[in-house]
Amino acid sequence: MAKQMGSIHRGEMDQSTDPKHRQMEEVQAPAVGLPSYTSKTDTKCLYCDREDSAEHTLISCPRWTSQRLRICETLGRETEALTPASVVEGMLDTAEKWGAIQECIIDIKKSKSVELAGGDG
Ligand SMILES: [Zn+2]
Repeated sequence: MAKQMGSIHRGEMDQSTDPKHRQMEEVQAPAVGLPSYTSKTDTKCLYCDREDSAEHTLISCPRWTSQRLRICETLGRETEALTPASVVEGMLDTAEKWGAIQECIIDIKKSKSVELAGGDG
């Protein structure tokens, strides 16, 4: 028998995609200058048309180069040497690195939300 899980604190990084964005996946995206974003392409990156994933966003999507550079600065690594493992390792290294990388990830999530919502806000 599984124990009932108590409620856990959900931080900003734990939030799922805003429901209003999910709605956009299910219906045709309005013509507001978004790259092709229909139900057919909901696993494609909005910015570069590759397979979208957390790893893609963090490690290789050209849209997030400036945030990635900040993460690399924090880790003292070249962008080419950035891997999910090196990010995790860096975050676990010191509280300062954790905070700096978390800030970059939140920045990406916020920018993505704003851009998915239509670019204003
Ligand atoms: Zn991309």
